[in-house]
Amino acid sequence: MLRPTTKMLPEYGRGHNRSLVLQTLYRGGRMSRADIARGTGLTRVTISTLVAELIADNLVVEMGQREDARPGKPATILDLNRDAFEIVGIDLSGSSLFRGALLDLDGKILDRAEVELAGSTGDEAAAKVMALAETLIERATRPILGLGVGSPGVIDLAGLVLTAPNLGWTNRSLTLDLSARFGVPVVVVNDANAAALAEHSFGDATGDMMLVKVGHGVGAGLLLDGTPQFGGRFSAGEIGHVVVGTDGGAECVCGKTGCLETWLAVPRLTAALAATTGPEQREKVLWAAGERLGIALAPVVAALDLAELVLSGPSDLLDGTLLTATAETIRARTLREHQGNFVLRMTELGDDIVLRGAAVMVLSGQLGVS
Ligand SMILES: [Zn+2]
Repeated sequence: MLRPTTKMLPEYGRGHNRSLVLQTLYRGGRMSRADIARGTGLTRVTISTLVAELIADNLVVEMGQREDARPGKPATILDLNRDAFEIVGIDLSGSSLFRGALLDLDGKILDRAEVELAGSTGDEAAAKVMALAETLIERATRPILGLGVGSPGVIDLAGLVLTAPNLGWTNRSLTLDLSARFGVPVVVVNDANAAALAEHSFGDATGDMMLVKVGHGVGAGLLLDGTPQFGGRFSAGEIGHVVVGTDGGAECVCGKTGCLETWLAVPRLTAALAATTGPEQREKVLWAAGERLGIALAPVVAALDLAELVLSGPSDLLDGTLLTATAETIRARTLREHQGNFVLRMTELGDDIVLRGAAVMVLSGQLGVS
């Protein structure tokens, strides 16, 4: 559950209320103890106790006194200690590069590093993840709050990579390996799930949204009622190998024909565009890809009553004709009454979406904020 908003009974509540205070400061910025009490519904006494603990833990800082004309003692302003920590984010979704960054608590990128994948798989690819993490941790100038990794593949809630075919990983304990090596909290999730979290925290997405990430493959991350959905077998959002339509299509790496990826994955789409002979044909290819995405997603949008669908990937391919085709197809295939507030759009987070999502996972896991 992201973004706690209600108070809880004292016997269960300490950790929850602590996160509630941090979340209120994280989103609301500088405010007084009284403001936090009003915002959370907790008593002034509880807030004072929690804030004292959080200051002792270096998570909250006093920023001086509010300058106002009201009579009486001016209130002390508090904020999350935004300069106290750095977060390491790693994105393994690229087909030729592993990318990493140091981020602050607001998800701003402070420093970057990358390592060429050069066709590595298995242990060799895992060693490159270790090396990238090491480089970033060495460069950090503040204590590390945690390390987040967005990886392709099916990953369980403990961060075990059950399968990531492109990297040749099966049951790889990436979380354990990284935390044993560096002694910091580690979170590993699927790259599209990480991207969905980034869009929720930094892209102003609603809590009922799906983010479709188009790259080497096609995957999706899903939030319902503000809660990320992973699925009973941790593969919620794995829509790339769903066959779209009943009219065949190109052969897919998985053995089927006409999977969503055969229309939409970047290598496929780029190849299809390269074979065109003019702008008209090019538009046709982009329209067909967008239409297939719309056909695949219309039932999902309707079944889950999604408010928002966000596309992430190369904007020269996705933004424009393809996006329009997807929107029109979904509109044509769903009930008009439900379309009022439905939004289909590109992400504005660009290529850093997984890195920033990795930071959200750490923030959410360590501080309960997002
Ligand atoms: Zn397939």
